[in-house]
Amino acid sequence: GDALEVEQVRKAYGATVALDGASFAVSRGEVHALLGENGAGKSTMVKLLSGLIRPDRGSLRLFGAAVRLGSPADAHRLGVQTAFQEMTLVKDLTVAENLLLPNAPTGPLGQLRRYQGERLVTEHLERLGLGGIDPRAEVRDLELPERQKIEIARAVFRRPRILLLDEPTSTLSGRDIDWLGGLIERMRNEGVTVVFISHRMPEVRRFCDRLTVLRNGKDVGTAEVADVGDDE
Ligand code: ADP
Ligand code: ADP
Repeated sequence: GDALEVEQVRKAYGATVALDGASFAVSRGEVHALLGENGAGKSTMVKLLSGLIRPDRGSLRLFGAAVRLGSPADAHRLGVQTAFQEMTLVKDLTVAENLLLPNAPTGPLGQLRRYQGERLVTEHLERLGLGGIDPRAEVRDLELPERQKIEIARAVFRRPRILLLDEPTSTLSGRDIDWLGGLIERMRNEGVTVVFISHRMPEVRRFCDRLTVLRNGKDVGTAEVADVGDDE
């Protein structure tokens, strides 16, 4: 069955049509790339799937059920979590606080819950191979690759059924890209469906099972990555 089905979605910003009847389907448990050049409509699709904006037309099904994502809370409730390219971490909060939001500790039990929360975050980061990042560090003090890895770790912390990775390598290189490969394999083993948004074919080839190409707001086809040549 399909985890995600996007049907004939249209979205315009004034006179600019960002998505013009785009459709694609992602099978449960696969790693599916959404590949397209600048301006193809990838960011707009990410925002729709994250509940940040609504389509003018078209429909969305998650695990076979028709859904409307009216807000980010709807997306979270339905198990869709996004690691945004723009990095939506709050810079003057710590790593732990960012992961624990919107359940940041308050009230008389705040100190205890803060301690427990930090433990959970520490364990989570260690499980993901990010034990070298201090959960008490403020995000503003992290290097960009660390921030991007924490942006991804936060989405995973929220136990996604569908994980959207929006240009997840934009600040990563070398070993950090290997780290991302390990994380994607872990998601695959846990049955999490991954949508990998990218404009670079080599990384799609490395990480993904299938790809859908987006061009001028339309899907121009879906294929097995193994069947696609190098310069396509
Ligand atoms: P991509 O992520 O593939 O680069 P986008 O979804 O960002 O594509 O953009 C698709 C088209 O919509 C582009 O022409 C872009 O300039 C336009 N666009 C995106 N967001 C907005 C916006 N908030 N207001 C106006 N135009 C936008
Ligand atoms: P990306 O590489 O993720 O596509 P963009 O540079 O296309 O990034 O867009 C960055 C942000 O600016 C996005 O939130 C997008 O919606 C917005 N944006 C893109 N094009 C326009 C535009 N023409 N007018 C207003 N906002 C835009």
